[in-house]
Amino acid sequence: MRTQLRTPASDAGPDVLRRAVVAGGAGFLGSHVCDALRARGVEVLCLDNFLTGTARNVAHLLPDPGFRLVRCDVTDYVHVPGPVDLVMHLASPASPADYLRLPLQTLKAGSLGTWHLLGLAKEKDARFVLASTSEVYGDPSVHPQPESYWGNVNSVGPRAVYDESKRYAEALSAAYRSSASVDSAIVRIFNTFGPRMRADDGRAIPTFITQALAGEPLTVAGDGLQTRSVCYVDDLVDGLLAMAAGEHPGPVNLGNPDERTVLDLARDIIAATGSRSAVQHIERPQDDPSVRRPDVRLAEQVLGWRPRVAWRDGLDRTVAWWRAAGHLGESVRPQ
Ligand code: NAD
Repeated sequence: MRTQLRTPASDAGPDVLRRAVVAGGAGFLGSHVCDALRARGVEVLCLDNFLTGTARNVAHLLPDPGFRLVRCDVTDYVHVPGPVDLVMHLASPASPADYLRLPLQTLKAGSLGTWHLLGLAKEKDARFVLASTSEVYGDPSVHPQPESYWGNVNSVGPRAVYDESKRYAEALSAAYRSSASVDSAIVRIFNTFGPRMRADDGRAIPTFITQALAGEPLTVAGDGLQTRSVCYVDDLVDGLLAMAAGEHPGPVNLGNPDERTVLDLARDIIAATGSRSAVQHIERPQDDPSVRRPDVRLAEQVLGWRPRVAWRDGLDRTVAWWRAAGHLGESVRPQ
């Protein structure tokens, strides 16, 4: 194993991961990655342009001398002084509402952003981890989706800006591995939820929680029988760190194979919030995938990873955070 993640109890050996760059670290997933790395004693340089994230997500880390937040657009030149052992690329609009309103920024994050961060990894001889997505499978004709499935993507549809940007980023990561000796790795992340999601990011779970807590109808797209498999954020972050610490190039799926209909998610959220909201069916967006479920056997085999937090437990933790943060239906806009 090339790099070891130090646990709080373990000693720092020569191959221990000491300093990480987390691009997109002020976002939902990135901020949890920063927390997890700091908990393991890794120095973190968080780069973010606050396009869809906010400094509030990492405000609790700012007094920590092992953490630094730098406003930086990774589609511009990225310069980082000093040694770096890990570059994790999470910088991209991620929710459909975000990437549909930010199409060019999304394509640039996957293309130019990936170029610059792979260049940084090459310069520093660091491990590079790309946060890719289940969206590379498009509207899948193979179910569940193993990593060997090549996908069914409409390259000129509205979602293409995200899907194709990630597919390009994957190709670039693989090419840097084969032709420039960069220790790159690709993780395909499936729908993840938890504290610090934005109430207005347009994804089903934050939208439903916000609507349920406000006593408004939960707007379910179509008949709601399309499926999603949702993973609690702590599990996902464990998988990302296992990938960072390992040698496998990927792509490796990370997600929870517990598949549920969107209608069931809505009903569970009504129950978990104690809301009296009803369900309201609205038009289904174009190219909305009808099924989505990861095959996570490769992650189990090569990372020893599988999700542990049950949907209802994760939901209760998320709703508790939502209430404590006071997101009772109002928009939480990034800075
Ligand atoms: P997010 O929008 O909360 O976080 C993305 C972060 O990247 C934000 O803080 C944003 O400001 C930053 N960013 C965007 N463009 C940037 C740029 N050019 N330079 C610097 N920073 C930039 O989204 P998230 O849900 O935390 O997703 C993080 C990553 O994981 C994304 O790459 C996304 O594609 C991937 N992913 C997430 C999910 C999920 O369910 N959350 C699923 C699949 C893939």
